[in-house]
Amino acid sequence: MLEVDVRRKLSGFTLDVKLTFDVGVTAILGPSGAGKSTLLRLIAGLDRPDGGSIRLGNQIWFDSASGTERDVRHRQVGMMFQHPRLLSHMDVLANVELGLRDEQSYEEVVRLTGVEPLMLRPVASLSGGEKQRVMLARALAGKPKVLLLDEPFTGLDQVSRRELLNRLARVLPEVRVPVLFVTHAFDEAARLAQSFVHLSAGEVISSGTAEEVLGGMAPNVDLERPGQRAADLPADAHEAATSSLISGEVAALESSGLARVRVGGQTVDAPAGNFSVGDRVYLRLWARDVVLSPLPGRQLSARNSLAGRINALEKLHNGQVLVRIDIEGEKIAALVMAQTAKDLRLEAGKPIFVIFKSTALDLSMVVEEVAAPKAPSAPDAGSKEAGADHPVE
Ligand code: ADP
Repeated sequence: MLEVDVRRKLSGFTLDVKLTFDVGVTAILGPSGAGKSTLLRLIAGLDRPDGGSIRLGNQIWFDSASGTERDVRHRQVGMMFQHPRLLSHMDVLANVELGLRDEQSYEEVVRLTGVEPLMLRPVASLSGGEKQRVMLARALAGKPKVLLLDEPFTGLDQVSRRELLNRLARVLPEVRVPVLFVTHAFDEAARLAQSFVHLSAGEVISSGTAEEVLGGMAPNVDLERPGQRAADLPADAHEAATSSLISGEVAALESSGLARVRVGGQTVDAPAGNFSVGDRVYLRLWARDVVLSPLPGRQLSARNSLAGRINALEKLHNGQVLVRIDIEGEKIAALVMAQTAKDLRLEAGKPIFVIFKSTALDLSMVVEEVAAPKAPSAPDAGSKEAGADHPVE
């Protein structure tokens, strides 16, 4: 486990965070200037905290109280940056070898990252996605104890981005160390990470599961725009910003542009987006967009009506009630006026129908993509990396 408790003051900005990272991927989300890269630099030893400590298991990497500091080279941290940092006058093999610790890790890394076909290519001839794949190979060749990925998808086109995302989704579960993945894209975070941290203006706003962190993010918070954070919103606005992430599986794609998503034994119609049949997805539903009814919603323009049970009612300060509902294990929050809760006699334990429009699902993320079918031998015009990107057998 990586334990980080650090403070770092830079001009006009202070990072002050206390976080622990288990083995597995933690996505670090937040607007530009939130301090995400600074956090990674402190962990890697590329920058020094003003105070606090960084520990990996019982190894002390930094401790201001005892004046302990482990040199960057002895932390054994693997890194991927926004822009690949490879030696462009050398070939791929030489670049991967730069990070190498032993022969055994070399073979494993080549297998995992699929860089074998690139080995003798000069770095300068590689595409952006291929370069990032080599960066990943180099980082893993060093048998890292911690892996830091700082927006590795920056500047990649859609095809390369998807390929790298697929590659990381296969490789990262095999890397049994804490992986910190900085991004401001919800879909990348949901696809790769099991834990989430929302950082803003140098502070941790929330940390935990996708539902706890992504679900709690305020509406219209532009992750790209610095300064905006959920905590800056008035309390009522924050409560109204509550959303739920519903997880399901894409059962069918309609020609009308709808995806039929199976949620337990029920179905939700969602905008099809980039889904494929079989994808496991998250759908985000804002509490304020949900209508509650004791009866199933039929002949309404809202396409979705899910049967559930009320878990709890939370009274808010503004005359509204947040109703927490369980739908076959999925947790959904609905915001209603206190008077409505009274009129409908909403109570914990009662069955209820949750009704919403497909267009209310304003965010959908692929959590786990179905394995691509084996490509036919016909040439693939769209992608240079497609052949290398089939599941590792
Ligand atoms: P993020 O990665 O979330 O975009 P950064 O960690 O890069 O955020 O930056 C956080 C803040 O620290 C920003 O206000 C940035 O201007 C400032 N900062 C980062 N590096 C330095 C530095 N070397 N010197 C002064 N200020 C810096």
